[in-house]
Amino acid sequence: MLQNSFYDAVVNFSANKSDEITYDEMISDGLSIFKKIHGFVSVSLFLKSSDSADYYLKDSTSIDHDIIQTTYNELIKNKEIAKSINDSESTGSVQIVNNNLNSFILILPLIIQTGLMGFIILKLDNNYSDDEKLKDLCKIHSKYLALFLMNSNLYSELENLKMTDNKIVHYSKDIVQSTKELKKILDSIQVGILVIDKKSDEIIDVNRSASKLFGFGKYELIGTNVQDHFIYKDDEERLNSSKNSKEFLLKKNDGTFIPIIKTDAYFNASDEEYIIESFIDITERKKMEEALHTAQIELEHRVEERTHELSEVNKNLQNEIVDRIKAEKDLLKIYWAVHQSPAAIIITDLYGKIEYVNPKFSEITGYKYQEAINQNPRILKSGELSSEEYKNLWDTLLDGKEWRSEFRNRKKNGELYWVSASISPVRSDNKDVTHYLAVQEDITERKRYLEELIIAKQQAENSDRIKSSLLANMSHEIRTPLIGILGYSQILMNEIKEADLVSLVNDIYSSGNRLLKTLNNILYLSHIENISIEMELTKVNVIEELEHCFLENKKYANEKEITLELILKRKELYIKVEKDLFNQAIGNIIDNALKYTDKGYVIVEADYASHHGKNWAVIKVKDTGIGIAKEDQGKIFDAFRQVSEGYSRNFDGCGLGLTISQKIVDIFRGEITIESQPTKGSTFSIWLPLFTSN
Ligand code: ADP
Repeated sequence: MLQNSFYDAVVNFSANKSDEITYDEMISDGLSIFKKIHGFVSVSLFLKSSDSADYYLKDSTSIDHDIIQTTYNELIKNKEIAKSINDSESTGSVQIVNNNLNSFILILPLIIQTGLMGFIILKLDNNYSDDEKLKDLCKIHSKYLALFLMNSNLYSELENLKMTDNKIVHYSKDIVQSTKELKKILDSIQVGILVIDKKSDEIIDVNRSASKLFGFGKYELIGTNVQDHFIYKDDEERLNSSKNSKEFLLKKNDGTFIPIIKTDAYFNASDEEYIIESFIDITERKKMEEALHTAQIELEHRVEERTHELSEVNKNLQNEIVDRIKAEKDLLKIYWAVHQSPAAIIITDLYGKIEYVNPKFSEITGYKYQEAINQNPRILKSGELSSEEYKNLWDTLLDGKEWRSEFRNRKKNGELYWVSASISPVRSDNKDVTHYLAVQEDITERKRYLEELIIAKQQAENSDRIKSSLLANMSHEIRTPLIGILGYSQILMNEIKEADLVSLVNDIYSSGNRLLKTLNNILYLSHIENISIEMELTKVNVIEELEHCFLENKKYANEKEITLELILKRKELYIKVEKDLFNQAIGNIIDNALKYTDKGYVIVEADYASHHGKNWAVIKVKDTGIGIAKEDQGKIFDAFRQVSEGYSRNFDGCGLGLTISQKIVDIFRGEITIESQPTKGSTFSIWLPLFTSN
């Protein structure tokens, strides 16, 4: 049964299509037509997606799109859609499906010449009555909708095409405009630009900045060769010419050059190759670089100076630290020196209040450190120092000077002791007196020794006086009878003729003589010890004295049948001595040489010698006598000492000869040296300072 209202709606819809209505409104209207069908539930349009093979829900009369989508999925799953499309393609009819959704579904494929573009799913309820005419009407309406959709697509494509055409026209207008604007822009930018024909290097276009930089007009530049306008900045740049941006010198119209940086770009147009060279003036940049370089050098210089200053400061600081450490060490040293000083040390303030005492102070006085601190040194006062001495002490200190004295102090236990004291002001860096320092040495023992020494000296002087008077007496008492004996024995020697008596008298004479010699030596030694200080020295010619001495001893040498020789290399050799003492000293040594030599010779030599930076007269007495063993050479200068001592002595003498000679030579600030070998002989050398007129 044909539903008239649906028929009318279909006819109206196709007849009243208006241009005013939009595509989507048209679809919506087209779908609402199905509402006229008796038993209508909903109608939904699915269209083929342009980018996949799927269909999407374009529009529906139902607002519950989820149910529609579920229905669609169900139909796909049951292949109902595929079946209905196949049927419609072969028969051109639509299919009613009884599905498990409990409704009738009418699937209406939308087919155009190019194929299936979508389908309509029409839901109907039980009131729907199956009717071929209705289905035909549905089919016509869906065909109409398909055509409408196709037309709409074609139209929109046409619209698009039209749009593109307009744009092309518009774009070509734009290109002309843009080219003009581009030229304007190129002229307004600060970068110089040249367009060059690559083949000929000919400039074919320039912008305003370029012609300004060159100083040439645009048309003066066009047609010239680009190579004439630039030179490489230096060889390095030429070598690196492969670089894209290079520094060049640009030759201006006035012949001057400016530094520029230039970049080349290549392009082709109408089969021609072109170069676009763009460049900028880097004069300012160069100046800045130079300024920067100068600043950098200056900075480096300053840094260097500062580093130098810092290292100086550092060095000074290190020196200061070293000095300070040294000062601290010195201070510590001083502290320990004071602390351990063998003298008592007291430091007081300006009012005499004790601030420091060292351990020696406590040891001497018996006052402990704590007992002494804050006390006045008068706790040590013995009361023996007179008020004048105290006044003198304070006057000296207030005068800023050191006061020294020896006096007695009193210990804590009341005992008195002697001190040698020095009290002096202590000054600060600014020379102000801040303290007083007392250094006191306990000299009680020394005083005692001194007293003993004085007593001993007095005793010695007494003994000396006694000895002198004894010697004087001896001299008188022994010499007087001895002279008598010698005198009488000499008379007897002349008187007596009997040979045996002559020998006796000779013995008396020689023994007496020997005794007198010993006595003379003893007296002489004592005499030397007494006179040495106030002796008067004169200039003496050693040569002359030795000649005398030689003559005196020649006789004795002849008697002993020994050769006595005098070897003198010069006529004058001056020394400053007391003549008799000198002769005594030399005489003793020549005596010994003759005495201790039995055969051979004795040679006496005198010459000048330089030794230890001094000039000397050296008298050498060489003999071929018995010699002296090394171990005996030291003792022979001691009084009464001899190599052969006691009763075994073979030689006469009392051991005083060398002692006297040594003492005399000492008085003249000379020296006696020995070289000797037992049985071979000895050499005694007497060194005396040479006299010089100044
Ligand atoms: P003396 O009167 O005994 O000679 P000296 O003081 O002159 O006393 O000499 C001390 C000792 O030195 C001598 O006893 C002797 O032993 C030794 N003496 C001195 N001169 C010589 C010498 N030329 N040769 C060997 N011995 C010597």
